[in-house]
Amino acid sequence: MEIKRGIAVSPGVAIGPALVLDSEWFRIPQRGIPSSQIDSECERLQHALGQAAAETRANQEAVTAKLGPQYGAIFAAHTLMLTDPALSREIETLIRNEHHAVAYAVSRVMRRYAKALESIEGGYLADRVADLFDIEKRILRNLLGQRREQLCDLSEPVIVLAHDLTPSETAALDPQRVHAFATEAGGRASHTAIVAGILDIPSVVGLGGFITDVSGGDVVIVDGHHGLLIIDPDEETRERYEHVRASFRSHESQLQELRHLPAETRDGVRVAMLGNIEFPQESAPCLERGAEGVGLYRTEFLYLGKQSDPTEEEHLEAYLTVLRTMGANRPVVIRTLDLGADKFLPRGNGVAGNGVGGTGVSPLGSVGLRASPERNPFLGLRSVRLCLRNLTLFKTQMRAILRASAFGDVRIMFPMISTLLELRQCKMILAEVKEDLEEEGIAFNPQLPVGTMIEVPSAAILAEQLAREVSFFSIGTNDLIQYTLAADRNNETVSTLYSPGDPSVLRLIERVVQAAAKHNLAVNVCGEMSGDPLYTMLLLGLGIRQLSVTPHGIPAIKRVIRSTTVEESVAAAQEAMRLETARDVNNYLREQTRRILPEVFE
Ligand code: PEP
Ligand code: MG
Repeated sequence: MEIKRGIAVSPGVAIGPALVLDSEWFRIPQRGIPSSQIDSECERLQHALGQAAAETRANQEAVTAKLGPQYGAIFAAHTLMLTDPALSREIETLIRNEHHAVAYAVSRVMRRYAKALESIEGGYLADRVADLFDIEKRILRNLLGQRREQLCDLSEPVIVLAHDLTPSETAALDPQRVHAFATEAGGRASHTAIVAGILDIPSVVGLGGFITDVSGGDVVIVDGHHGLLIIDPDEETRERYEHVRASFRSHESQLQELRHLPAETRDGVRVAMLGNIEFPQESAPCLERGAEGVGLYRTEFLYLGKQSDPTEEEHLEAYLTVLRTMGANRPVVIRTLDLGADKFLPRGNGVAGNGVGGTGVSPLGSVGLRASPERNPFLGLRSVRLCLRNLTLFKTQMRAILRASAFGDVRIMFPMISTLLELRQCKMILAEVKEDLEEEGIAFNPQLPVGTMIEVPSAAILAEQLAREVSFFSIGTNDLIQYTLAADRNNETVSTLYSPGDPSVLRLIERVVQAAAKHNLAVNVCGEMSGDPLYTMLLLGLGIRQLSVTPHGIPAIKRVIRSTTVEESVAAAQEAMRLETARDVNNYLREQTRRILPEVFE
């Protein structure tokens, strides 16, 4: 049994067979075999090794002819390995002595080799690990052939393990079949983590290297509460986790009972609980969890799996779907496209990134903005900056938002605003679009409330000026933290710096709340911080009366709100503001929250 520690991003526990995406990309169907099958498994091995070696020889010849012998030599090394009697002997030993099925035995042996190479000092052999995975994949492909199961048509539940998953890959996972996932890379507020929360499957990211420690078909446990991946658990651990899984389910159903109760403090102060959504279909579960509206609709997910920019009608249809579920009186805050950086990077425009749904096609083909990759995409042409450079795209979305506003309580929100001028430009374009619609006789709400996200430190610093020009603020702590502390939200190696409890972040939030209060402006918090019970008292105490949370997190936050008073939250916030480090703040808040709700972090 091996235990790996990472960052918990979606709670729950799952126990099941691993599907290791970085190597086979398909499922190793069985792990053990009866004695009667041993000989036939060994024959299958020899056949698969022979086929694989023939393929690499053919590759060697083709590459040598095209690029020269030095490149062909890469495949010559693969052939050498595939025909090495020691390799076949080692795999056969596992089949004969351990009764492992051949595919599983291949994976085990290749992973052992990869691990050995990885551990050699200096790291110069680490690249060869990729060759070993390539060879493994080739043998497995020959073994499993047409019978191999793809991620999109799994017949049995699995736990997906990968180096990293893009938000699009994560969103494509089927929660009926994929019961959990764990990745080597990634951070707490990465978009992959956010999508995991939407899917409501236990997930852990930022585990560091483990891919060479695990074979497809190995039993693993993902503990999404404590951020653990347990490979090959012993019997006792497995039983303990079966128990944890059952009690988590009963705890979840208890929380569900809070669904229809208001998010109201013990001294009678109401907090508006809104939901964050990425897809229109999420609005129903959002309501079921007790949301009073949508506080953040991340519309960039309209790009998922698309090969072209969404049309005005496609935008409108998505917004109307949300409105139909939410009803005319619940607020729906539609955020304009926040594309770029780690989110739906257009491929094929020279920008390194995750692409959309693996299509390899640029949906922003019409933009044609970037000829060369950006060195620093998080500080580059993303989000509202990208929209301001592509007015057709921006206006198309604005038209749809305005048209939707005729059917319900729609509000528009601009992301990544970093200067006053940017906000004014957005509002000017909105005014132009309104004029166009008026001329065309198309209905919309002329009083459509306009808000801005506060997620760049400059916006927090200038909150007072921005407050004069909008009707609401929404604090995006995910980006605010990363830009304040210069710590990439996706990078597990700086995850200790990336903390919502950092005194610098608290000061910026306090500043924004004060500016909003001065101008009588509603202020919401919609980053992941708002869904973490650790910070609920603090946010209440700082004056926040509106939270927008990933739907599955709503009941837990409601419970904290219903267990405290404004007076004790203010006292907790005041004390937290006096503390000097994120660690002190987090420890203090943990203590305070435990005091009012002892079971909260269990
Ligand atoms: C944020 O930055 O906090 C936020 C809510 O936006 P996103 O996570 O989509 O960047
Ligand atoms: Mg953001």
